[in-house]
Amino acid sequence: MKRFNLFVKLVEMILDVDCEFRDDVHHDLDDVLAGAVLGTNIILLSENLKKNMADNPLLVYLVLAHEIRHTWQFANQSYSFENYYTGKEAPEKYEMQECEIDANAFAYLVLQLVTGKTPKHNTWKIFSYDSIMLRVRELEFAFRLRCKNRDVRKLVSILKQYNKF
Ligand SMILES: [Zn+2]
Repeated sequence: MKRFNLFVKLVEMILDVDCEFRDDVHHDLDDVLAGAVLGTNIILLSENLKKNMADNPLLVYLVLAHEIRHTWQFANQSYSFENYYTGKEAPEKYEMQECEIDANAFAYLVLQLVTGKTPKHNTWKIFSYDSIMLRVRELEFAFRLRCKNRDVRKLVSILKQYNKF
């Protein structure tokens, strides 16, 4: 589990947020992997996510970075969540929401940072890929600047030892 703890620390450092992770509360996340509680810094982890930790660590990284980005969005009031669609209600509308595209683009950049590789389209099955890539290009410059921080670089080099895929 150490690698995931380090990963979370890294993402929190990049975004300057402090999240609370809960896996002990009842929720209806069984068919998704994790979820940020709207307007809070709380991230709920599902059993399903934990099962993926051994077999599909890249997916777990993507999900964690995505959810931590949502808490950053809440803290910075970057998006309105008033008419938010969940994946269950409307899968296509859900994916194309700006907050989801932003969270996926951010997760993409983090994954690239810690693995040194470009995440493949099929790492997470998603059809908003082109929109995500546009957002990646918008975020890239500021993201790289944040990652020049010495503590960020230190954590990345430790994580890279875990990530010899
Ligand atoms: Zn999301």
